[in-house]
Amino acid sequence: MPQKKKFKICDTFINHSSIVFFSWVTDTQWSVDYLSEGIRQFGYTTEEFLSGEKNYLHIIYPDDAEWVVREAETHTENGVKSFNLVYRIVTADGRIRWIDHHTVVARERREEGVCCVGAIMDITERKTIEQELIDSEAKFRTIAESTTVGFFIYQERFVYVNQAICDVSGYTQEELYDMNVWDFAHESSKERVKEIVLKRCRGEEVESRSDDLELVTKKGEIKIVRSMAHTVPYKGGWAGAGTIIDITDIAEAKEQVNLLAHAVKQTDDMVRITDRNGTITFANEAILKHSGYTLNEVIGQTPRIFKSGKHDKAFYRHLWKTILAGETYRGVFQNRKRDGTLYHEAETITPIRDMKNSVQYFVVTGKDISEQVAWENELHRQATTDALTGVYNRQKFMEELEAELDKFRRYNNTFTVIMVDIDHFKEINDTYGHDTGDKILKELSRLMNSSIRKTDLFARWGGEEFMILSPSLSYENAIVFAEKIRGYVESFVFDDINHLTVSIGITVPKEEDTFEKILKRVDKALYYSKNNGRNQVNFM
Ligand code: GH3
Ligand code: MG
Ligand code: MG
Repeated sequence: MPQKKKFKICDTFINHSSIVFFSWVTDTQWSVDYLSEGIRQFGYTTEEFLSGEKNYLHIIYPDDAEWVVREAETHTENGVKSFNLVYRIVTADGRIRWIDHHTVVARERREEGVCCVGAIMDITERKTIEQELIDSEAKFRTIAESTTVGFFIYQERFVYVNQAICDVSGYTQEELYDMNVWDFAHESSKERVKEIVLKRCRGEEVESRSDDLELVTKKGEIKIVRSMAHTVPYKGGWAGAGTIIDITDIAEAKEQVNLLAHAVKQTDDMVRITDRNGTITFANEAILKHSGYTLNEVIGQTPRIFKSGKHDKAFYRHLWKTILAGETYRGVFQNRKRDGTLYHEAETITPIRDMKNSVQYFVVTGKDISEQVAWENELHRQATTDALTGVYNRQKFMEELEAELDKFRRYNNTFTVIMVDIDHFKEINDTYGHDTGDKILKELSRLMNSSIRKTDLFARWGGEEFMILSPSLSYENAIVFAEKIRGYVESFVFDDINHLTVSIGITVPKEEDTFEKILKRVDKALYYSKNNGRNQVNFM
């Protein structure tokens, strides 16, 4: 091929290439003495440069210009034959493009500078992709290194772990990269973890992507983590990638809650929970079993279903006032079962506050103490009744007298004390025997007890002496009343002995009175009846 034709082909190739070829001198402005047509892609014409209207330094992005000049100087002065620089230029319409500039230093050195030939290539697209990669890598690292969620990638061994995994496991990244994934699983789950890891490394997916695992930290502590992972393609092979979250606290709290719930369900105590409106939201086995209600019959109801009607309004007012103030209430309730049976329940009502410290729920725990109450009632009955006659004893009389005296002092409510003593009882004993005497005491008690009013208290004071305590009875009425009793006794026909009489003393409280003064006075009144011939009533 003729030389001229070869040049023509070269020229066509050069001027149609997207690579721009040019030659220039490293003078103050880098004046261009050859330039290929490729420069048009940046909006310039060859003429602008060849005429000297523009030179190369004009089109370098100003921030990069100084660096480019310095680099070029260093390379040319060091006698380097060729070098590459990557920098930015500005197009005719002001856009910035990244270029890869390859320079060959010509041997020719002029006075103005060194002659260079070179080629520039637009690498903006590649640069943009590179930058995006760098940006996205930076974003990923920022997230991965600042989160408490553990990120990992493994291929049998870990190939990436973030700081959170180091924090939860106590191992450094380097230590983890030297470990098989299952090495830090707890003994109980090691085999399962190993199986999953190996499956993923073969490119298989695993059915459950979320798993709660126990792992052992470097210090030997056991932590519970929730792991979520996928099988992903990685470096021409397969890997497992995912996250772990430390849920030890949650798992422990859940266990604690389960334990408590279990305890509440199983306990023999009757437990129910109501919201602040009193609606029952929970009832345990014990209360259902005891009350005879089913769960459905209780949930959504109020504790009124257990109400016996035995407590007054004041009782409930006090109860609500206490618990709404956030204090625990303890008390004995008389409650009713589904079948109507009454029982005594010792209840503790505890208000439960929410995070904002306002009372939201009440936990009611109770025990059936009916047996205890019945036993206490029996003990009290025994302590306050007379064994021989079955009427109240001296102890009970004194308690009631004290109470009446208290009412008299506070509200001036008067009362009457009537003392009765059998006449010549010693003779009856002596004549008919002690057993008959006892029988008489019983008969007389029955007679007098049935003669008194409901509000009166009749008691055996001791031996063959009896007391009647009559609230709100004036002394005139009391004399009439006592006279009536005396008459009943006188006319009553007793077994074995036929007739007997009693002597009676009466008194009412006076200002500044004491317990002892009242007893002394009534005894004196009785003594007067005795001395005055017996079978009579006297007031003092
Ligand atoms: P007076 O008219 O003065 O009262 O004569 P009295 O014999 O009744 O005298 P007093 O009241 O002092 O006598 C009490 C007698 O009551 C003495 C005792 O023998 C008898 N007594 C006391 N307690 C009992 C008892 O539990 N059973 C029997 N059978 N007798 C009793
Ligand atoms: Mg006596
Ligand atoms: Mg007597």
